[in-house]
Amino acid sequence: MNVLIINCGSSSLKYQLIDSETEQVQAKGLCERIGIDGRLIYQPAGGEKEVTEAPMPTHTEAIQMVLDALVNAKTGVMKSLDEVDAIGHRVLHGGAKITESCVIDQAVVDVIEECCDLGPLHNPANLKGIYACQKLMPGKPNVAVFDTAFHQTMPTKAFMYGLPYEYYEKYHIRKYGFHGTSHSFVSKETIKFLGLDADNSKVIVCHLGNGASISAVKNGKCVDTSMGLTPLEGLVMGTRSGDIDPAVVEYICNKENKTVSEMLNILNKKSGVFGLTKGLSSDFRDLEEAMADGNQLAADAIDIFCYRVAKIVGSYVAAMNGVDAIAFTAGIGENAPLIREKVCEYLGYLGVKIDAAKNNSRGKEVVISADDSAKKVAVVPTNEELAIMRETVALVK
Ligand code: ADP
Repeated sequence: MNVLIINCGSSSLKYQLIDSETEQVQAKGLCERIGIDGRLIYQPAGGEKEVTEAPMPTHTEAIQMVLDALVNAKTGVMKSLDEVDAIGHRVLHGGAKITESCVIDQAVVDVIEECCDLGPLHNPANLKGIYACQKLMPGKPNVAVFDTAFHQTMPTKAFMYGLPYEYYEKYHIRKYGFHGTSHSFVSKETIKFLGLDADNSKVIVCHLGNGASISAVKNGKCVDTSMGLTPLEGLVMGTRSGDIDPAVVEYICNKENKTVSEMLNILNKKSGVFGLTKGLSSDFRDLEEAMADGNQLAADAIDIFCYRVAKIVGSYVAAMNGVDAIAFTAGIGENAPLIREKVCEYLGYLGVKIDAAKNNSRGKEVVISADDSAKKVAVVPTNEELAIMRETVALVK
């Protein structure tokens, strides 16, 4: 089957066409500046990257351009759109009603719509992508794969906040968790790669990218995760603060004459390692370079980041009463040996030992713990598009 994977943001859209038999990407790219001016980036497998500037007032024109590129006589990878068998959409928030991926019908659209409140930046964009595909490829099955779904197995004690119960009843305020497709994919790959028993295993997945989250996966099911009602909770991230005392918000609002929504913008976009380094960078490559040049703020930001990762990992060892394996994934987890080493230094009490030579690796699936380490530690690259493709095929076959 040919599966088109669509990941819509508010003004951008990433896509991949994947052959489900070979699991090879046939073409991929993105549309940028939707609603502003418009740019399509298209790359067929083994071919050159093409950039086309063209107006894209809405997601419908953007997806039309993607489809035109896929069937283009010269550089396309299909003769006609009939060769697309299904479309898989990444959707941010499914609330508490959706616990797994589903074929999109009106009831599913209604839930995504209801959850726009909880995911105001993403859910409306995800819906636009769904509507555009329904319009441009009528009759083809569309599947929604939710970022929150994998975390729906968390028990009450993990997902409830210590707030008046009425807010849970009235507004569904609770922890939902994000990056679920990645946590699901990487935990399963880790179990396979390390030869663990799927029904008797305790795995901690550290998804460390620009956005970063950790999950505790017991017997293949998520029992806790670090992001919350929104992706702002948990770790210190590229530009997000992660956990802070909620009273900080009022304090700064009063001192700096800011509104709560201005503060939230600061917590989302101006904080994290970016804020800690006075705006030097949110990218760990820049921070490592600055640290090597003697920049103390960059060194501290890296320390703060790693310390927070280690503290959450430790709390999940407690939550699961043990751990068999720890997996690192996403941009930082896959590519930053220094960060992995610093995190693991904190885990010595678990008997974790890193093999420096094995850890000196980027972007590859590899065990990085020493042979005599009490716990296995591995780098397991994530692949959200592949995971969405597999879910889509499983549902429409
Ligand atoms: P997202 O999908 O959340 O945008 P990614 O998972 O792609 O993020 O991760 C991007 C981040 O990965 C970059 O901001 C950078 O901090 C980090 N990164 C990528 N490559 C390296 C590297 N070689 N060394 C250190 N950090 C890296």
